[in-house]
Amino acid sequence: MEQILSKTKFSDPASDKKPLIISGPCSAETEEQTLATCLALAKTGKVDMLRAGIWKPRTRPGSFEGIGTKGLVWLQKAKELTGLPITVEVATGKQVEDALHFGVDVLWIGARSTVNPFSVQEIADALRGVDTTVLIKNPINPDLELWVGAVERVQRAGITKVGLIHRGFSSYGNTEYRNAPMWHLPIEMKRRLPGMPIICDPSHISGRRDILQEVSQEAIDLDYDGLMIETHVDPDHAWSDAKQQITPERLAELLDGIQWRREHS
Ligand code: PEP
Ligand code: MN
Repeated sequence: MEQILSKTKFSDPASDKKPLIISGPCSAETEEQTLATCLALAKTGKVDMLRAGIWKPRTRPGSFEGIGTKGLVWLQKAKELTGLPITVEVATGKQVEDALHFGVDVLWIGARSTVNPFSVQEIADALRGVDTTVLIKNPINPDLELWVGAVERVQRAGITKVGLIHRGFSSYGNTEYRNAPMWHLPIEMKRRLPGMPIICDPSHISGRRDILQEVSQEAIDLDYDGLMIETHVDPDHAWSDAKQQITPERLAELLDGIQWRREHS
């Protein structure tokens, strides 16, 4: 894992290395869907890390809330078959334990957890003494103190490898974006936490496929250290976030269409 990360700008934000590309389905749904998506992503040769939601923080009850721990077995298989590290969202101490037990390389804290200091503290307590990398999404509301506070809680638990994910901010009545990017806020976070890698999640900012390319380009123009983009072998029939997911093949085209900031070593 360290070897894969060390080839990317994520491990060295000041460098000219290539941005870290994380991709995979919004949710692991079935073993077939998880493996087919992950194998197709590996085949593109453009992805550094695989993602999938195992426990899904859905806004309304009654929708698909994640396949749960058995999905970790499928992800572990994807990791073995592709040689790529895996990342999942964790929201409780038990989820941290389960994810680590099944070999998850990188944990991320979701936007709905970052807003809640009790949740972040529970996650941080479960991470004490663990050597792992933790990515922290911005809170759903545009409150930088909560974002900084979550970073501090995780760091105080002894985690030294921490990164940020910008996924946009919710605002009532916003129609262009699912979550408004408010680019000045992550820029301010970079100023507050110099040297901390930040990646962009164009999928949750856009909420739709047609603006994914331009949002990704904006992030690269702003010198982000990576992108996390949701992919699915059959996006229209995804059990969550169907409108914003793209196929692994389309991801490869999107990445080919980006004007990279510099020549990557
Ligand atoms: C996700 O990454 O699928 C997710 C639920 O993201 P967020 O926490 O940004 O809403
Ligand atoms: Mn999603």
